[in-house]
Amino acid sequence: WAKAEGRGRWAVFDPERSARDIARSALVAGLPAALDRGEFVVHYQPIVSLLDGQMLAVEALVRWQHPELGLIGPARFIGLAEETGIIVRLGEWVLRQACRDAEAWRREFPGTRLVVSVNLAARQADDAGIVDTVADALVTTGLPADLLQLELTESAVMGSAGEPLRSLHRLAALGVRLAIDDFGTGYSNLAYLRRLPIHCLKLAGPFVEGIRGDGPEVTVDHRDERIVDALVRLAHALELWVTAEAVETPVQAERLRALRCDTGQGRFFGAPGPAGEIVARLRDSGAAA
Ligand code: C2E
Ligand code: MG
Ligand code: MG
Ligand code: MG
Repeated sequence: WAKAEGRGRWAVFDPERSARDIARSALVAGLPAALDRGEFVVHYQPIVSLLDGQMLAVEALVRWQHPELGLIGPARFIGLAEETGIIVRLGEWVLRQACRDAEAWRREFPGTRLVVSVNLAARQADDAGIVDTVADALVTTGLPADLLQLELTESAVMGSAGEPLRSLHRLAALGVRLAIDDFGTGYSNLAYLRRLPIHCLKLAGPFVEGIRGDGPEVTVDHRDERIVDALVRLAHALELWVTAEAVETPVQAERLRALRCDTGQGRFFGAPGPAGEIVARLRDSGAAA
């Protein structure tokens, strides 16, 4: 038994829960050494045009190739990496790796203009050195700035002081694209949004999930569909691109196209995979020309 924050309330000690917490802490304690040992890998997921299916961008998604536990997804360590601050170092490694890979694709397939989209944690975006880090990653790898997109959540955009981040304007001035990730699930301040140097909104998965076509008949949550409709109109009124996340079925892809969504990402268009899968896809599409 453990006493919960005064007021005479008691919480039941849950052995399973604490075992999980211990496992999580052990995992996160190993992060810095794992980074030094090179145990992280970046996978990439296609972001395709809903008009013609062409792959226009890829999102960089980090995984941990753990020597005993196998491939671990970011859901299990990103949150803790943010809390401990190690995300700043891990995120910088992902950024550099993603720029390196994107530059290699650009050299191998000069006809393409594949954008690489990298997630920026709030902690990283808030870090004073972020602009220099991004500028240095571009210079060292040779990747043109307009082929890099940075994804920030609504709360990251607002910064820790509750003010829109000044560094966003400096990042935009470098020529990189900025996207709001999981748009519609966070704290959206539309008055700020219209003043921010943003290029793209990524519509959060739950809205797309409301458009279902996995059974024998199509069931549509009309409220979700109307929200998507409204958000796409809002984005286009602000001259922003819209990417729908978590597109899993052809019905969703078709509905999103009808709603004038620009691009889509999700299992329907391709799961995240190693860089080699992106190369194979570029080769198949005859992108070498
Ligand atoms: P996110 O940025 O919103 O990334 C999209 C997530 O949706 C990815 O999960 C992706 O694998 C997953 N996804 C792909 N296709 C589908 C689909 O068809 N349906 C559904 N329901 N989901 C799909 P993942 O790779 O596990 O990443 C989870 C989150 O971890 C990311 O969400 C992002 O917030 C964070 N993350 C990943 N890599 C990094 C990184 O390098 N830095 C930071 N700061 N965060 C990262
Ligand atoms: Mg995952
Ligand atoms: Mg993202
Ligand atoms: Mg997202």
